[in-house]
Amino acid sequence: MVKGSVSGTFRCSFCGKTNLQVNRLIQGNGAYICDNCVRLCNEIIDTETGGFDSPDSASLPKPKKIFATLDQYVIGQHEAKKTLAVAVYNHYKRIGQPKSKSRDAVELQKSNILMIGPTGSGKTLLAQTLANLLNVPLAIVDANSLTEAGYVGEDVQDVLLALIQSASGDISAAERGIIYIDEIDKIARKPSVNRDISGEGVQQALLKILEGSTVNVLLSNNSHQQIPESVSINTKNILFICGGAFNELDKVIEARTKGNAMGFGANISSKADKDPTALLKDVMPDDLLKYGLIPEFVGRLPIIVTLDALDEKALIAILTKPKNALIRQYQTLMEMDNAELNFEDEALAAIAREALQRGTGARGLRSILERVMRNVMFEVPSVGGSTKVTITREDVMFNKEPTLKIEGSS
Ligand code: ADP
Repeated sequence: MVKGSVSGTFRCSFCGKTNLQVNRLIQGNGAYICDNCVRLCNEIIDTETGGFDSPDSASLPKPKKIFATLDQYVIGQHEAKKTLAVAVYNHYKRIGQPKSKSRDAVELQKSNILMIGPTGSGKTLLAQTLANLLNVPLAIVDANSLTEAGYVGEDVQDVLLALIQSASGDISAAERGIIYIDEIDKIARKPSVNRDISGEGVQQALLKILEGSTVNVLLSNNSHQQIPESVSINTKNILFICGGAFNELDKVIEARTKGNAMGFGANISSKADKDPTALLKDVMPDDLLKYGLIPEFVGRLPIIVTLDALDEKALIAILTKPKNALIRQYQTLMEMDNAELNFEDEALAAIAREALQRGTGARGLRSILERVMRNVMFEVPSVGGSTKVTITREDVMFNKEPTLKIEGSS
């Protein structure tokens, strides 16, 4: 039982310092501990638990709550958010499923997720927001860098290593984490390549970890060490989200749907007139096989989520609406230098249009803003008083230097 602070001279039972050498010495049953040792103990506990929760059935947010949180950060993508909210809820519910000894008990199978959508439409952001919301570790890896074991490049096991690192070494937290594999379409089998080391082989290698198995991961491969340090990690409860733009997949879908559109009563209006992301909503596992994914791999990604291409309206909303919207970030930066920053609506529209022209979705917004804001951020800190800056359409379109209005000056 803690008895509180002491008077007289006593020593910390852990580090041996006296109460005169530390700020506080707390007395327990026949022992003392100083404030430094308490802090150290807390740090050790934090490192060991990795600061991560494992969402249990009581703390697990319901799909509607997951959706609402995603909504705060991700603009549009309504269907994707809904599907993800349900999939992630079911995934963590499955992990929390009490073990039944009955042979008739239904075993819930893991459902990894495939996200299909254009570059810069929010795939990575969705995965990041989910991991934050659930407070589970997240690793983001690029499928381009993966190779089969034995070839130069990252081994599939390195994917697990990235997750362990993100969990600060806490294996049990990593075992409930999320791995987001970006550019998954780049490991599709390419028919023209004779010896396909980067495509099918990587899919085969990924199968093992996607499904759920215990894998030995090399933590350090220091040649000076006789035995490299390794840990074993079970991937059964790791949620894999694979994402890719799948360029030209719309053509595969269109060919299939056109094929079906023969005979009486067929819908003869071609979907080719629609935007390609609209066609992606009709994707079937067979289309993915034609695209070059192997059947076993497609089988392990049973939940398919498609994202829409972002239009001008969505891009403007991305600039201003999310909790940490880019415009709000620049406004906060400026406030710290006593400046009020505003954007005319037309300026926002011009930024959105420029991003659309770049064809990289919302990715282009940041660099356009950096360009527009560069001179403002250079000048404002030296002004010394309050400043008002309004960014106009011309500033964006013609690369003009925005005017600074210094308060008190005319
Ligand atoms: P990708 O679909 O290529 O994975 P990202 O999620 O990495 O795209 O998005 C790139 C950038 O654009 C991120 O900084 C993200 O904040 C922003 N972004 C993309 N889509 C959205 C969206 N739907 N809502 C809000 N921000 C978005």
